[in-house]
Amino acid sequence: MAIAVPGTHLAFDDTDSPEGMCTTYLATLMLEEFADLDLIGLPRLVRLNPNIPWKTRGNAAISLCLGRGSGKSRLCGHVADTDIRCYDRGAPVDPAELLERASKVLKRVARFDCDKTNPGIVASRAKPPPALYWGAVRGILGLRDVESQLKRSGARWRKFKNGRGVIGAASAMSWRPRDRTWEVIAYRSPDLVGTRRSISDESVIAMDRATRRTFNNYDYENHHIAIAPGSPCPILFGIRGDSSDELLKAKDMIRGERPSKWLLFMTNQGTDDHIVPKRVRSLKPRDSARVDVRVAKYPVTVPGKHVILRVTDGCEMDAAFYEPSRAFRDVARALIPGDEVTLYGSVRETPRSLNVEKMLVRRLVRDVRKSHNPMCDACGKRMGSVGANQGFRCKKCGKKAPYSRAIFEKHARNVKPGWYEPPVASRRHLHKPIRRLSRVNIDNL
Ligand SMILES: [Zn+2]
Repeated sequence: MAIAVPGTHLAFDDTDSPEGMCTTYLATLMLEEFADLDLIGLPRLVRLNPNIPWKTRGNAAISLCLGRGSGKSRLCGHVADTDIRCYDRGAPVDPAELLERASKVLKRVARFDCDKTNPGIVASRAKPPPALYWGAVRGILGLRDVESQLKRSGARWRKFKNGRGVIGAASAMSWRPRDRTWEVIAYRSPDLVGTRRSISDESVIAMDRATRRTFNNYDYENHHIAIAPGSPCPILFGIRGDSSDELLKAKDMIRGERPSKWLLFMTNQGTDDHIVPKRVRSLKPRDSARVDVRVAKYPVTVPGKHVILRVTDGCEMDAAFYEPSRAFRDVARALIPGDEVTLYGSVRETPRSLNVEKMLVRRLVRDVRKSHNPMCDACGKRMGSVGANQGFRCKKCGKKAPYSRAIFEKHARNVKPGWYEPPVASRRHLHKPIRRLSRVNIDNL
């Protein structure tokens, strides 16, 4: 199962904390440490199951391939005042030595004081089987299972504290992309970390308009720069896209604070890799799933202004559209019973509901509602209703009429079939933006 590849893989995870360190920054420190080695292929930034309860911030792990490079090379970063290039091919180095040196770097910088920070490092000539990646992006893996897989792949690893980071590290290393995107991340000077980031809104908007294959740059609904994090971490900004060449140009279009270093990553962000097609009946808490359903009841707007939509595929459940996604919520509010939709989201434990993160409106029914009771044939008086949908009876002469005799009125639908998603700020890292969906084959859904 394990495939030998050129170079030696080094992966690490769970080194960040809500207050500071970030795992992608550690990648740049590793490259500083391994200045005597070459990078084979791009560094990989791999996001794992976003619904894991003990995750640190974004549940990201990093995998690098290091060795003696050969073949073509390309610019992919600038670290410690030196350009970083990555090579097409390479020769491996000793995994034990990599592990030793990487552990020293990690010990120097990881936030061991944070409860949720439980770093792990893995070094290996062979990649572990891809099932590890799929297990970690869609579910929850146990440390013991992962360690036995690593043993079979001939890997070496080191655990810190409870060592849970080994799971993410091994999973990131095992990723074989089916779909992938890129992110170029620019970092702040160490003396500025923790201070307010200075980035020109205009330059982000200009970059967004000038580039064709970037995504999630600017939240036009909330007037918010989406490429800059809000946390006090070392990242100045990160630009995501479908063309790594374009990202290198995009990075130079941002005005404001000067980055002290930058690095290009291949990532699984924006791929929907975490989403599993399911039936409503089989949904479990913390699943990320896609369900094809019909609207069962008129939407209800609840206090706090989110919208609850009762849906069914034979089995009913509530789908929730939360407050931060305004326009998205309005689409949900415009749906009526019978409409067919595909919902993407994660399952909440209590109350059990699907927190909707993306929606395809597949088919809309005609909105025809009864406006009046019919007139009596015999005496011309307005008839009375016998009961809901049960027909009519004349109060004066007692004559009956079926429900179909009611006077119906057709209402315009203020929603169109198509894709809908929340604004940039409320999307998850793995969320495949609609902008990307239009580039891939929608028939494959
Ligand atoms: Zn009558």
